[in-house]
Amino acid sequence: MKVTSFPKNDHSNGWYNGLGDQPPASVLHGDSTADWVVVGGGFSGLAAARRLGELRPDDRVVLLEAGRIGENASGRNSGFVIDLPHAISQEQPEHDHRQIRVNRMAIAWLAELIEQHQIRCQWSHRGKVHVAATNRGRRNLEVMASRLGGLGEVHELWDAARLKTYLGTDYFNFGLFTPGCILMQPAALVTGLARSMPENVEVYEDSAVVAFDDGPSKILTTAGGSVTTPQVVLSTNGWTPGFGFLKHQLLTMHTFASLTRPLTESEQVALGGEGDWGTIPSTLGATTMRYTQDKRLLIRRSLRHRPDFTIRPDDHDSIRREHEETLKKRFPMVPDVGFEDTWGGVLCMSRNHVPKCGALADGIWAAVCQNGVGAAKGTISGRAVAELAAGEDTDLVADMTAYEDLQRFPPSWITAPVFRAKIAYARLTAGAEA
Ligand SMILES: Cc1cc2nc3c(=O)[nH]c(=O)nc-3n(C[C@H](O)[C@H](O)[C@H](O)COP(=O)(O)OP(=O)(O)OC[C@H]3O[C@@H](n4cnc5c(N)ncnc54)[C@H](O)[C@@H]3O)c2cc1C
Repeated sequence: MKVTSFPKNDHSNGWYNGLGDQPPASVLHGDSTADWVVVGGGFSGLAAARRLGELRPDDRVVLLEAGRIGENASGRNSGFVIDLPHAISQEQPEHDHRQIRVNRMAIAWLAELIEQHQIRCQWSHRGKVHVAATNRGRRNLEVMASRLGGLGEVHELWDAARLKTYLGTDYFNFGLFTPGCILMQPAALVTGLARSMPENVEVYEDSAVVAFDDGPSKILTTAGGSVTTPQVVLSTNGWTPGFGFLKHQLLTMHTFASLTRPLTESEQVALGGEGDWGTIPSTLGATTMRYTQDKRLLIRRSLRHRPDFTIRPDDHDSIRREHEETLKKRFPMVPDVGFEDTWGGVLCMSRNHVPKCGALADGIWAAVCQNGVGAAKGTISGRAVAELAAGEDTDLVADMTAYEDLQRFPPSWITAPVFRAKIAYARLTAGAEA
């Protein structure tokens, strides 16, 4: 069958552009066989390929990525590797404990790899602060704090003065700090992971799978060649329906980020604060922010539902203006620091907020749908699916296969207007949190 949807890369990702010249892509040429093919070079695919390489050192593992690793969502995100879920269910604490356990396993594994391979990605143990500028936001954070307390998770409530000291800005009046989140430069992390694979793992970029024969011997065809294999792992997130699987079970949305140039020394003094930090909003549709180790400010907000994966030129311009307004409101002390880059990336969600980590058909596996927070979740899902496919009986496999099945969405003529309305409502009601 022909694969029906493909990622579109507009080369606008500020994190990737900031890495400087990159080595040319190794592109798949010619026909060959492999023991395993992993499709997709985001957190999930990188973890799956690595783990298969580790578990089966004599097998040939091939990873096929449509674009450049680091240009994908995994290299375009805000750089939070979260341990604690943003939404804590309360009714099912065992689910929250499981999610926290696997997220922490992902963080520990990534930390080990960064140390072992000396991956320079601004890995920073600074935690995250959920911030509120309104009473509604404050109430949301109080509920979250009480649920974290119920789970026995360490957290601190911060007042306006503590927030100003930490962040520099006095825009917020209430904060909830949790210490276990890691901050990083995502494009640096994923390119570093891709370049430090076990010897038996071959990574091909600019090698989109355009056709997929899913018989007993699976054939994955790219523009330059093909690989025949008995075992395929799809780490293709929102593009998985294009391979014929999980149709009507995944919803994709674009979200957007802008990154400034590095602040000058006098701007750093004017900003103040206690070093690098990351903030998460207290309400839906509001703004995530970073101040990076290399002294840049990042704004992440704005959602668009674009099922054809196309970012329109007017999306880009209006979103950049939104981000500029947000930056000016929060950081009036550095009025001249403009954005160098604004970009969008694709989030993949399920209706019941669970991932798909497991078998799709005989010899076809998936680790997809990270529900908007894939740095930890994608990493651990990729590792788990590799262990499952390789026949390993691990606690991680038990944890990741305990999720319920993905629920179906109604047809797109119903979901598309509903999601657009929800996004518009969240935007309208975000108020000063936006
Ligand atoms: C602006 C933004 C901010 C975000 N902030 C955060 C954050 O701070 N923390 C966090 O945890 N998450 C965040 N996310 C979400 C996170 O980036 C994703 O959940 C994560 O990248 C998903 O990883 P993945 O490997 O499952 O999918 P992806 O990174 O989407 O990788 C899927 C890969 O499959 C490839 N592919 C698709 N089709 C084909 C094909 N036919 N052939 C070959 N390859 C193919 C794609 O090119 C892509 O590289 C953010 C996302 C965005 C866009």
